[in-house]
Amino acid sequence: MKAMVLGRAAPMEAKPLALEDRQGAEPGPDEVSIDVEACAVCRTDVHIAEGDVPARLPIVPGHQAAGRIARVGARVEGFEEGDRVGVGWMASACGLCGFCRTGRENLCEEATFTGRDRDGGFAEKMTARSEWVYRLPEGFSAAEAAPLLCAGIIGYRSLRLSGIEPGGKLGLFGFGASAHLAIQVALDWRCEVFVFTRQQGHRELALRMGAVWAGGAEDDPGALLDAAVTFAPAGALVPSALARLSRGGTLAINAIHMSPIPSFEYEKLAGERAVRSVMNSTRRDGDEFLALAERIPIRAATELFRLEDANAALLSVKKASVRGAAVLATR
Ligand SMILES: [Zn+2]
Ligand SMILES: [Zn+2]
Repeated sequence: MKAMVLGRAAPMEAKPLALEDRQGAEPGPDEVSIDVEACAVCRTDVHIAEGDVPARLPIVPGHQAAGRIARVGARVEGFEEGDRVGVGWMASACGLCGFCRTGRENLCEEATFTGRDRDGGFAEKMTARSEWVYRLPEGFSAAEAAPLLCAGIIGYRSLRLSGIEPGGKLGLFGFGASAHLAIQVALDWRCEVFVFTRQQGHRELALRMGAVWAGGAEDDPGALLDAAVTFAPAGALVPSALARLSRGGTLAINAIHMSPIPSFEYEKLAGERAVRSVMNSTRRDGDEFLALAERIPIRAATELFRLEDANAALLSVKKASVRGAAVLATR
């Protein structure tokens, strides 16, 4: 099977992923093997390829894989060959620690991650632990479903942690793969959505999708926000976003890696404003979001790349030049 493998981290411009022909792995007793049909690209894949997020090397990156079950391990229940499934960022959690026992397995210190600690979906085949495999929603092709699996699920968690209420004023800072899915949930909740991004193409997409306003991070949208989520890995956005928040508002940071946050006046945080980070996702986030995606239904804008062109796809994500989500079509 073909796989795009990261042997050594390097800037995306140096094309660190290389095509390899590999033996597909057999599933362990608690695992399934999957014929991958599509795998979406996440900014985290760029951070892994460039070494900002350390990974086990060599590694096959990719943690938004959609396809069909090829083989089922001996102890797996609830899945059969041919089932349409997806795999996201969480690959395992210990199941025993205080976090795992209280439904916060996203915080488990022993958690492992797809495409960082075990081989992921930039390949024709992969294996995954069955408790972290999701059934794909009905009515979605593999390419349409793939971006839901991290961009969608963790975007949904970010909305939840921002505390946005139905009908509230929501700010989205950055408008890549995750934000363009989150806006569809926010609009379903009848929120007014304000989008802050440097990219003119992203502003146009946001307005077309239903944002009431789109502009730059330093522009004044003329209203204070009840909550905001920042999706861009730029720490300088944090004080800018806080300055747009109403009293009592929360800024949720959806980023695994971020440049340093510049210092700012206490007044920007005063008035019970809060800044909080978002880490990974729980199984419940995934189940809730995928049900929501099927009901709304959420439509991902996708830009397709061949598996062999993974370096180009990751470079596009790094430059934020993709409208919607970059997806590798793996077969
Ligand atoms: Zn991701
Ligand atoms: Zn745990």
